[in-house]
Amino acid sequence: MKSVAFLGLGVMGYPMAGHLKARGHHVTVYNRTAAKALKWVAERGGRSMPTPREAAEGQDIVLACVGNDDDLMQVTLGPDGAFAGMKPGTLFIDHTTASADAARELHAQAAKHGIGFIDAPVSGGQAGAENAALTVMCGGNANDYARAEPVIAAFAKACRLMGPSGAGQLTKMVNQICIAGLVQGVAEGIAFGQKAGLDIEAVISVISKGAAQSWQMENRYKTMAEGKFDFGFAVDWMRKDLGICLAESRRNGAQLPVTALVDQFYSDVQAMGGSRWDTSSLIARLTR
Ligand code: NAP
Repeated sequence: MKSVAFLGLGVMGYPMAGHLKARGHHVTVYNRTAAKALKWVAERGGRSMPTPREAAEGQDIVLACVGNDDDLMQVTLGPDGAFAGMKPGTLFIDHTTASADAARELHAQAAKHGIGFIDAPVSGGQAGAENAALTVMCGGNANDYARAEPVIAAFAKACRLMGPSGAGQLTKMVNQICIAGLVQGVAEGIAFGQKAGLDIEAVISVISKGAAQSWQMENRYKTMAEGKFDFGFAVDWMRKDLGICLAESRRNGAQLPVTALVDQFYSDVQAMGGSRWDTSSLIARLTR
């Protein structure tokens, strides 16, 4: 069992850190809003620290799941960042969805301290985090990955090294590009079915057994049909992810017309007050 710290107890981090504790690891948590860290400790045990540096001191491995590139830099770099508290030979695993550039930059910064760095964004949503069923796509070197994988196993159903530093984030971009158009497709299908006067339960029970089946359909059709979005993966975070994908495509020349369009649809949802709604809220702009 390892001594680990977990930085960022959000929708994803809170249950992920819980699975590490349940596996028997010695867990120290840090959360910017301290009340959440205190609640976690009261429920699960372990201990909390007021800064990333203090949480990281003395640990074998430090994991993080914060919002975006800037947040990630804040919890890793600087005098109160985790790297300042970590010893040479330890490992940092980042589960934030961030840019490939940020991963490469932090890999290089970590190396200066003798620390290993794995970019390890996740897929599977809030339910995947709560049920220890996340898919984890990693970038970094093979030795660091070999140390990371048994720890990640506490909350993952699949985990794979995709290539050098940044390759995990690039794989996550593919994941988000595939999801963007798909969620819009499910939203259009359900909104159409409702207008057509069909029983959506019956429709999904049939078509989810055929070629239209998807994770989004199976896990989101019910709440989409009911107009409930107060959970899950926030629209603000999806726009952050799609922004990362679009920026990367400008560099590598890939064409992302549907991704760019769906990004604009999400800006409509934000204007409707849906910044924290689940990404399945694309249907809300079709049914308003
Ligand atoms: P969230 O609920 O908004 O939680 C974000 C966490 O990061 C909170 O603990 C927040 O602290 C912390 N944080 C943000 N900025 C910070 C900063 N500058 N310094 C220190 N801590 C900071 O987000 P989430 O849904 O868990 O998502 C976290 C990451 O996972 C994101 O990159 C997201 O894209 C990715 N992701 C999410 C899902 C999903 O379904 N939710 C799925 C796959 C990937 P406070 O409590 O103080 O705000």
